[in-house]
Amino acid sequence: MTWGTLNWFGVSCWLLAAVLPWAVAGLLGPAAPGLFRRVHPATATWSLTLIALGVAAATAIGAGAAAVALLRPLLWEAPLPDGYGLHTPGRVAVVLLVVLPLLAAAAAVVPVAWSAVRDLLAAKNTWGHTRPVDGVLIVDDPDPEAYAVPGRPGLVVMHTGLLAVLAPGEQEVVLAHERSHLRRRHYAHVLLVRVATWLNPLLRPLVPSVIEQVERWADEDAAHAVGDRTVAARAIAKAALARSAVRSGRSPVVRRTPQPVLRATTGDATARATALMAPPLPAGRPLLALVIVLALALPVHSGWGARAVESLYRSACAQLSEQVNPDDGR
Ligand SMILES: [Zn+2]
Repeated sequence: MTWGTLNWFGVSCWLLAAVLPWAVAGLLGPAAPGLFRRVHPATATWSLTLIALGVAAATAIGAGAAAVALLRPLLWEAPLPDGYGLHTPGRVAVVLLVVLPLLAAAAAVVPVAWSAVRDLLAAKNTWGHTRPVDGVLIVDDPDPEAYAVPGRPGLVVMHTGLLAVLAPGEQEVVLAHERSHLRRRHYAHVLLVRVATWLNPLLRPLVPSVIEQVERWADEDAAHAVGDRTVAARAIAKAALARSAVRSGRSPVVRRTPQPVLRATTGDATARATALMAPPLPAGRPLLALVIVLALALPVHSGWGARAVESLYRSACAQLSEQVNPDDGR
């Protein structure tokens, strides 16, 4: 095998490992929201989270492989101190291959975690000295709002402005909806998809999609809890209508409240209410199985590409070392 062949193989390996996750993300971004609306929101939420993480991991590993492949000639030609020999670039490459994806993942977590903490602190400011009862905090605020605050065991915040526009049965729907967010750890799905978009920005359309799906999932749980899809649909529609009336200025607002992600009034309320008026969607397990395979295959493929680059260069390194020092290894 000649140097030219080795280089060609090496380049095609890292190029495929680096480019494939971006190609998949480019296709997935526009297609995923519509595709996952055809299955139950629980399946859709898990699918979106897993595929986003799979693509993000593959992106980070592929970028590490590309960086190593591109840096390799520089490492090769760098003047190295005696005693380290030709094996040093190999060691540097392995370290880069592990460290670069880990650094990228850590860098992606920071902005997402920071914005989540900021939202939480802003929400806490509005509570004053109110104390929760049975995990529910009723805040005296005319803004018709309800939201879930993640934690152990988490907290449901409901504003008096929202309670005022809902009948008791509808208030139960909103409470069950927010409790579903906490029980199912919906915030974790949203945060993980947001972290994934920092590693691969082509995944951005998946963020509104996963937010929409966790809302629908909580709607389904709420409808199941109250045992009446029509009441659930009416509660969601009334809550959203009250909020949009306040936002458009037709009702007086005392002050602006924070906008946590998992609000009862998030998303397209008409679509959510319409979905509740129809029978529940199929579970869509074959789609989930396909997504799991794809989510695992992508990082494994990128890892394989990175490993192929590494072993090709190692064998080239050994060949060159043998030519320079033919007595070695005898
Ligand atoms: Zn919600």
